[in-house]
Amino acid sequence: MINLVLFGPPGAGKGTQSEKLIKKYGFVHISTGDLFRWHTKNDTALGKRVKEIMNSGALVPDEITIAMLKEELDKNPKARGFLFDGFPRTVPQAEALDKFMKDNGSAIHFVVALDVTEAEVRTRIAKRRETESRVDDEEEKLNKRITEYFTKTIHVLPYYESQNRLNTVHGIGDIGEIFESICKVIDK
Ligand code: ADP
Repeated sequence: MINLVLFGPPGAGKGTQSEKLIKKYGFVHISTGDLFRWHTKNDTALGKRVKEIMNSGALVPDEITIAMLKEELDKNPKARGFLFDGFPRTVPQAEALDKFMKDNGSAIHFVVALDVTEAEVRTRIAKRRETESRVDDEEEKLNKRITEYFTKTIHVLPYYESQNRLNTVHGIGDIGEIFESICKVIDK
């Protein structure tokens, strides 16, 4: 079974495509955004620590994020077929993930990066704002998330590319067609 990372800017469609991929391939889905939202909603100690950072649109510090991820992996020591969504978002996170997988006798086989322009992402999130209420979707916070992506997260791409683990999929257009393109990468 393969382990992969689904990568892309906020609003790239990672959540939508993850759902479809889980149904088709039975991946164990690990979304750090969902995990952080669960902690803040349930007001856990971790939730209290990250709430303000998250709501501002900034990245949670690596130390906290990596510890949470490790805990999640330790809950599923025998699982195979992880789909990571929203993690890694920095190079230290990518390195930590490789190490954890290696320690479990496994690996991140490849990354699927959804290629979506900044203009498209802004339009999509503006629409999402009308139907869902995510505090971090507000204009100013969204700007922060996009800045975080283009200043920090983008550097994860050359990390995987230099190791021949990067696959880019055009992320604009029909959801079903984008899904087919991702499946092609996985099936190959
Ligand atoms: P989006 O839908 O914008 O891609 P997510 O739902 O994945 O965002 O994450 C929401 C917020 O949770 C981020 O803006 C950040 O504050 C925090 N977060 C999620 N994953 C990470 C991560 N890997 N590293 C640091 N912060 C993270």
